[in-house]
Amino acid sequence: MFQENSTAAALDQMAAQTQAATSCDTSRRQFINHAGRGLLAVGVATALPLASAEAGDLGGLGLPAATGPLDVKLPSLSAPTDPKSEDPFNPDAPDRRVGFAIVGLGRLALTEILPAFGKSKHARPVALVSGDADKMSKVAQQYGIKASSCYSYQTYDNLKNNPEVEVIYIVLPNALHHEYTLRGARAGKHILCEKPMATSVKECEEMIAACQKAGKKLMIAYRIQYEPLNRMAQKAVREKTYGTTKLIQMMNCQNEAHDQQWRHKKALAGGGSLPDVGLYCLNTTRFLLGEEPTEVSAQIYSTPGDDRFKEIEENVSFTLRFPSGVISQCISGYGTFNAKSYAVHAETGTIKMDPAFSYNGLAQEREHAPGGKQTTEKPSNPGKDQFALEMDHMAECVRQNKTPYTPGEEGLQDQRIMEAIYQSAKENRPVKLTIGVGKTDAFRGTPPSEEAS
Ligand code: NDP
Repeated sequence: MFQENSTAAALDQMAAQTQAATSCDTSRRQFINHAGRGLLAVGVATALPLASAEAGDLGGLGLPAATGPLDVKLPSLSAPTDPKSEDPFNPDAPDRRVGFAIVGLGRLALTEILPAFGKSKHARPVALVSGDADKMSKVAQQYGIKASSCYSYQTYDNLKNNPEVEVIYIVLPNALHHEYTLRGARAGKHILCEKPMATSVKECEEMIAACQKAGKKLMIAYRIQYEPLNRMAQKAVREKTYGTTKLIQMMNCQNEAHDQQWRHKKALAGGGSLPDVGLYCLNTTRFLLGEEPTEVSAQIYSTPGDDRFKEIEENVSFTLRFPSGVISQCISGYGTFNAKSYAVHAETGTIKMDPAFSYNGLAQEREHAPGGKQTTEKPSNPGKDQFALEMDHMAECVRQNKTPYTPGEEGLQDQRIMEAIYQSAKENRPVKLTIGVGKTDAFRGTPPSEEAS
C-alpha cells in the first residue's frame, strides 16, 4: 500500500519546499509589516486606542497582544425588524485550537474534511497519514502542514511523539477503523472515527475498551447529529410540535460506480448499502426519537449478475419498531438514482427533509394546517458546514473534558442493530432487540453547544 522507497525522497522534497514557503512567507510578512507601519504613520494609529508599548506588541505592529477570549463584536447592520445580521466568525487563535491528524487522504478527507477546517473555530489540521507520499506532499503544502508531521501507515504509531496532535481523525475504509483506533489510542490520542464505526460488534467493543484504557475520547463522525436543520427536526419531534410522532419513512440511495475499489469488497467494507448509506436512516431515526428499537424486520435484494454486488448487498429495506409505537420504514440502495430524504409523520403535521443527508443544500418543509388552512413552512438553512461543526464538537469535548454527543457506544448500538437487520433478512423473520430500550438518548453524551437557532 505504501511505497517506502519513494517516501524519504518525497519527504525531503517536502521539507525543502516547506522551507522555501516559509521564507516566502517571511518576506511577505515583512512587506505587510512595513506597509502596516506606513499606514500607521499616516494616521491609522489614532483608530487603535489600545496601542501602547506597555500592553505588549503583536507581530511588530505596535498592537497589544490580546488576552482572554478573542471575540470581536460588531454593531448590527440591520434594524431589529430586519433579519439579524451575521456576527463575526470569531475563531480561536491557531495555537489555542485542538490539533487534528487526518488519516487516509481519500475523497471524503480531501473534498470535505480538510476544507472544513477553514470553517472550524476550535480545530486545526496539524498532521497527515497516507500511503501515497506524493499526494501527501501536495496536500501538506496546501494546508501548511510540516513535512515532519507527515506519516505513513507504518510510521503512524510515531504520532505519539507529536505533541501538536491531540485528535486522530480516521477516514479509512471501514474495516481499517478498528486497527487504527486501537493504535491511535495506544499512541495516547483522542479518536474521531468515520462511520460506520467498524465491521462487527466485537470490533466496536474493542475500540471502546481501548480508548477507555488509554483515558482518551472516542467519537463517531455522525455529522447529521450536528447539522442545524436535522437538529431543528429533532427538537420538533422531541417537543411534539405536531403532536405524537407515529410513522417515519427514510431513504438513502445512490447509483454506485463500477470501479469502486473497496466499497464493493466485503473484507474492507463490511457490507454494502446498509453500513454505508442505510446507516444514515437507522442512526437518524434513533437520533430524532431518542428511543432504541425493540424489533427489526428486513429484506435484502441484489441484482443478479451485477459485478458490484458479488460480495456485498445492493438494496436493503428494514422496518424498526420503537417502544412508543413509532414505526420507521427505511430503504438503502446502491443501484438507483440519488435519493436522500425522510418524512416524519406526526398527528398534526409532517416534517420532510429532502435532501436530508447530503453534504450541503439540505432543505426542510413542514406541512400542517393551523386554523384549518393547509400550510407549508420552509425553515431556512443556516448553511453551516457539518464537518466543521462535528470537529468543533470533538475539540470542545477535548478542551472541556466532556463525553462526545456521538461516542463509541452510539456506533456500537448501530452495529448491533445492523447485525440484527442482516439476521432478519437471512432468517426471514423479525428480530427482537432489548439493549437501551426504555432509556432516552441511551448512548449519547453531551449535546453540542453550537445549537441550531
Ligand atoms: P476513499 O476510498 O475515497 O478514501 C479512503 C482512503 O483510505 C484512500 O484514499 C487511502 O488514502 C486510504 N486507504 C488505506 N488503505 C486503503 C485500502 N486498502 N484501500 C483503499 N483505501 C485505503 O473513501 P472515502 O473517503 O469515501 O471513505 C472513507 C471513510 O469515510 C469510510 O469509512 C466511509 O464510510 C466514510 N465516509 C463518510 C462520509 C460522511 O459523510 N460522514 C461520506 C463518505 C465516506 P491514502 O491514499 O491517503 O493512503
